[in-house]
Amino acid sequence: MSDLAGLYLHIPFCSQRCSYCDFYFVTTEKSHTGFVEALCREIELRGNGYGKREPIETIYFGGGTPSQLAISDLDRIIDSINDAFDTSNVLETTLEINPEDASSDYLNGLRTLGIDRLSVGVQSFFDRDLDFMNRVHDAKLAKQVISDVRKAGFSNFSIDLIFGVPGQPAEYWAANLEIAQSFEVPHLSTYNLTIESATPLKNQVDRGLIKPVSDEDAASQFTFTIDYLRERGYEHYEISSFARPGHRAKHNHKYWSHANYIGCGPSAHSFWWKGLPAERWSNVRNLKKYEALLMQHVAPLEDKEQLGLDTLADEYILLRLRTSDGLNLQELEDRYGVDLLIERVDELAHLEEGGLIQPIRNQIVRLTDLGKTLCDSVTARLLPDSSD
Ligand code: SF4
Repeated sequence: MSDLAGLYLHIPFCSQRCSYCDFYFVTTEKSHTGFVEALCREIELRGNGYGKREPIETIYFGGGTPSQLAISDLDRIIDSINDAFDTSNVLETTLEINPEDASSDYLNGLRTLGIDRLSVGVQSFFDRDLDFMNRVHDAKLAKQVISDVRKAGFSNFSIDLIFGVPGQPAEYWAANLEIAQSFEVPHLSTYNLTIESATPLKNQVDRGLIKPVSDEDAASQFTFTIDYLRERGYEHYEISSFARPGHRAKHNHKYWSHANYIGCGPSAHSFWWKGLPAERWSNVRNLKKYEALLMQHVAPLEDKEQLGLDTLADEYILLRLRTSDGLNLQELEDRYGVDLLIERVDELAHLEEGGLIQPIRNQIVRLTDLGKTLCDSVTARLLPDSSD
């Protein structure tokens, strides 16, 4: 895969609020007409600005819950994308779907639209966990959706699973992985349940109603996950991502390789690097404001920053250490002007002695399994400007 741009569409609708979630979404909107109109306008706007400069290679509908949109709405959005961007090189079109939306008619409609990859918000195969998280679906539907997705012809799909759920017996997590692999799910994204600010879960923790899982227990579930899935033929190719051979997520690769990506929709982020400085911007995190700005043909911008080579180098180290392909020191020097073998040679040696990185081969730095559990602190120790 080359590193042409990716396109992300943020669909900000959910039927109810999951207790842990801090993404931008609304639960009150009955009509999606105004949003779809605004999104198509933004796609046209971004297509004129950026689509003319680079074809896109991946499309990703995220949210929120993209599967809250009708097939006819998605059809209109895809038409806008095809009009505004060069889509002749598109390799993957992913849509996030929740189990309760996955009727056979809906799934068949997605196939007709050319969606060729699904990311299914399963989170757990146990009612206890799903109730705790305030998910809409139940355990029965979590299992059913996998065969429905296959029946509709999707061979490329991922499921999300969450570990570190307070009060969850250890055997539940092992059983979640067992069920997923017994269904031969081609791709899994596993996330540690984090307590984000301004969420119902944070509120429960603050009131002493829930005790978060300790870092040690979460790390041990994570290590268990790596071992369990690796033994069953999954590549652990990024901290949260496991794939059967040939099923890595192409869109997410854009984020980890500093490729360009354009985000449309409220709260969406974009990154564009064609000569220095690179640019990163985010959209307004408010649906009404987003729609109002686009009705006036104004870009729905909230923040924009310019990134110099030093910041980009730090980001690149952080992003690449998350991946099993690792941090290529030659590329870091050639593209970012940082020679880590000179700047952090002692730290690299200490990390290797401590069993946190593998011995460097062919200029590639890769985390060990222990290093993966401490990814953030290993990264901090390797940033060129960090103190010894
Ligand atoms: S986790 Fe997903 S479905 Fe739940 S509130 Fe957040 S965006 Fe919506």
